[in-house]
Amino acid sequence: MDRRDRFLVFGAPKITDDEIQEVISTMKTGWLGTGPKVARFEADFKRYKNADHAIAVNSCTAALQLSIYAAGIQAGDEVITSSLTFCATVNAIIHSGAKPVLADCDIMTQCISPESILEKITSKTKAIIPVHFAGNACDMDAIMSIADKYNLIVIEDCAHAIETKYKGQHVGTFGNFGCFSFYVTKNVMTGEGGMVLAKNKNDADQIKILALHGMSKDAWHRFSDKGYQHYDVVAPGFKCNMMDLQAAIGIHQLKRVEQNLQIRKKIWDYYQREFEHLPFSLPVEPRSHVRHGYHLYTILVDSEKCKMSRDELIFALHSENIGTGVHYRSIPMHLYYQKEFGWHPSQFPNSEKIGSQTISLPLSAALNEQDVEDVVYAVKKILERK
Ligand SMILES: *Cc1c(COP(=O)(O)O)cnc(C)c1O
Repeated sequence: MDRRDRFLVFGAPKITDDEIQEVISTMKTGWLGTGPKVARFEADFKRYKNADHAIAVNSCTAALQLSIYAAGIQAGDEVITSSLTFCATVNAIIHSGAKPVLADCDIMTQCISPESILEKITSKTKAIIPVHFAGNACDMDAIMSIADKYNLIVIEDCAHAIETKYKGQHVGTFGNFGCFSFYVTKNVMTGEGGMVLAKNKNDADQIKILALHGMSKDAWHRFSDKGYQHYDVVAPGFKCNMMDLQAAIGIHQLKRVEQNLQIRKKIWDYYQREFEHLPFSLPVEPRSHVRHGYHLYTILVDSEKCKMSRDELIFALHSENIGTGVHYRSIPMHLYYQKEFGWHPSQFPNSEKIGSQTISLPLSAALNEQDVEDVVYAVKKILERK
């Protein structure tokens, strides 16, 4: 009777008339592909992140693949990343021919553990891909000093961490590359989309070339009215440029990035207060030197304490019309990786625990007060029945 009547879609984006009008006006110019709006979105993003170079692409997966390629990583190399991440992080390593090597995460921050990274370094290690989990920041002091000591490339997976800062510095600007996602559920979205931040100009130029078939940089002038020019293919590139249609959305999403962060922080704080006495564990508050991006609100469900399993709680919430997410079952829990690399979840106990207990509750700037109250009400109703 008191179940909400409309299903609350997990991670639904907040879209305003500004994006809609910009998309319409982009359509009317007839210039849908890569052009002036992409250039503006790159400039805006670069300024927001206080970064050296920004190249827009069509996903974070592409951003990771291009960064790995541009870094010269190849077969025979090893790349260390977190055992708690989205599969795309690991798949991007696999496609380069390099061997993915997993490090466990920290049980509190859910970010890659520097101690575990150290244990995994060999003479073949070429790079580290830390994942700034849920909007939290990895321990960048420790990671960068490991990278310095062993001469490793650092590619930051910032898919959750557009707004995140570590000791006042934006994440994605510590390593050689920072990779961002504008997938629909992310904090700034363009439907599909991504961005690479690069520290040095050479890398940035290479990413730009690789993102468009490997055609020389002048080829990008095909997208302007500077007159016809032949292009040269200088590398076997990929096809992952961003369209102006996507950038039209991103430009306005980015304008509201701080405003939306404050909305999500309020929801986070409300959950923290309301759930304080419930039998599951709450996400840890950010350490004082971290500015959290509040991308995911994740609880851990211990089936003994909650008298129900994580999956039972997910199904019960679904019956209450509340959509949830799981970020993530740990990488070694997936069959392919077990078969291919011989990994077992128990080798990464922190990721295993999180992977089997975590639930992400709705945390989107699109939620209204009633939505948030419905989430709290449903969670309490289910757990207090027990
Ligand atoms: C979403 C996500 C990606 C992939 O982003 P796409 O833009 O969908 O390719 C990579 N890593 C993490 C941690 C993510 O959450």
